[in-house]
Amino acid sequence: MNLIFLGAPGSGKGTQAEQVEKKFGIPAVSTGNMLREAVKNQTEAGLRAKSFMDAGDLVPDEVVIGILKDRIAEDDAKKGFILDGFPRTVQQAEALERMGVNIDKVINIHVEDEKITARMSGRRVCEDCGASYHIDYKPTKSDGVCDSCNGKAVLRDDDKPETVLFRLKTYHEKTAPLIDFYDKRGKLITVQGQEEIKDTTKLTFEAIEK
Ligand code: AMP
Repeated sequence: MNLIFLGAPGSGKGTQAEQVEKKFGIPAVSTGNMLREAVKNQTEAGLRAKSFMDAGDLVPDEVVIGILKDRIAEDDAKKGFILDGFPRTVQQAEALERMGVNIDKVINIHVEDEKITARMSGRRVCEDCGASYHIDYKPTKSDGVCDSCNGKAVLRDDDKPETVLFRLKTYHEKTAPLIDFYDKRGKLITVQGQEEIKDTTKLTFEAIEK
């Protein structure tokens, strides 16, 4: 089963992708996490991506598509995968089709913009393993410490308010057209991104099992 999670930054798609990974045993593939890892390790792709990411802008397609292609060719992705944060443009979706990747369902998590901006300031991400938390909705057990790996759970630079507004604008201009793209292909299921994570998870599981 190959799934795509669509949604604005802060819609909770990463969190839901982690839940689906646990339940269905297929890896969540987050291009954002892979790019942050590449920046940390100062790889060639990371060096190219950094300035775009800091500004909240999209990283050029050729960098992201290369990373994604290598990742889904790995053994654990043979039985399926969940794409979180890819594709983010119609060009990326077309590249995925050209790679011959068949997508079963596209789960679109819908959250209003006003809610997003309020949510993002509470978001925390582990510097080491990329696990995501929220100070109100999904707090770490110990303040600022990742439950999974004991790394530091921090506010990402690009979750700062001014960058969030730009990321939302980018989402509406470049990513939201994918809703129509996948609807036309009969793959789209929209799920309302509720306040409580577990409520969205329930709707997400129902959408996948339908
Ligand atoms: P995310 O963790 O998904 O919010 O991604 C964080 C940042 O990584 C984004 O703001 C972009 O700069 C970059 N990024 C992640 N996925 C993509 C993608 N598919 N295409 C272009 N840039 C991406």
